[in-house]
Amino acid sequence: MTRLTFLGTGGGRFVTLTQERSTGGIYLEDGHRVHIDPGPGALHALKRNRIDPTMTGGIMISHCHPDHYANAEILMEGISGGRGDQRGFLIAAYSVTTGRDKVGPAISRYHQEKMRTVLTVAPGDEFRMGKLKGTATVAFHSDPDSVGFRFETGDGIVSYVSDTAMDQGLIAPHKGARVLIVSSTRPLGAPIPFHLSTDDVAVLAESIRPEVVFLTHMGKKFIKEGPRKQARWVEERSGVRTVAAEDDMRVLIRGSIEVISRRRNRRFKVRPFNSLDNEEKTSDEEPDG
Ligand SMILES: [Zn+2]
Repeated sequence: MTRLTFLGTGGGRFVTLTQERSTGGIYLEDGHRVHIDPGPGALHALKRNRIDPTMTGGIMISHCHPDHYANAEILMEGISGGRGDQRGFLIAAYSVTTGRDKVGPAISRYHQEKMRTVLTVAPGDEFRMGKLKGTATVAFHSDPDSVGFRFETGDGIVSYVSDTAMDQGLIAPHKGARVLIVSSTRPLGAPIPFHLSTDDVAVLAESIRPEVVFLTHMGKKFIKEGPRKQARWVEERSGVRTVAAEDDMRVLIRGSIEVISRRRNRRFKVRPFNSLDNEEKTSDEEPDG
């Protein structure tokens, strides 16, 4: 079984500052334990979810913006255990490990040297760390070195579209994904440069056709507009089951995909989308958040 934990579902400057939603990134477990994009709040989120950071195998960072890397160094200290012997890995974009112009590096040399392996990845690069296997995918973001990640887990492909502008080039690298996680910063009809909005996510969902899409990295306006409303719009438009991720939400991936919402005390299996499902829900105005 592969397990995902959303350690945070917020993104962007304002939500990161207010921690209206946590910005702790995503935790992937599939025989290995990987922490992806550990922004501010990652440590607290690990504690909330009773995940021991010293058991993490490695850190992955998609690009050099603090909502994606801010807690990484202390987590790397946890991985190395403060011992002399090197342990663990960092897989990250060039701007994160090396820096380019005024951007980065995000991780000090001191911390990079604590890792057994530091792998700088560009779009198309494959990575393999023990059982962890995948590819860095293309992204079109203000940090030009940004990447996404596609993981080949024992339970199928789990793919992560990190911060990016919409581009047709995003589709092919994520084809075949069972689970597609998308940084959906902006709500319907309110695009900003270098980020995806709900309209874009629907195009990706329809073209990639995973079993389920998870919306995360929500900006202030996205949260205000109602994440579940945005998810329903993506479903209606794309015909693909779409879930607005919540902080501390867990996803269990095996034959079926099961979602555990700790915030709403709900547990459900992902079923193919049927437009009738949303008919009664369109009038529900229960607060999102
Ligand atoms: Zn960014």
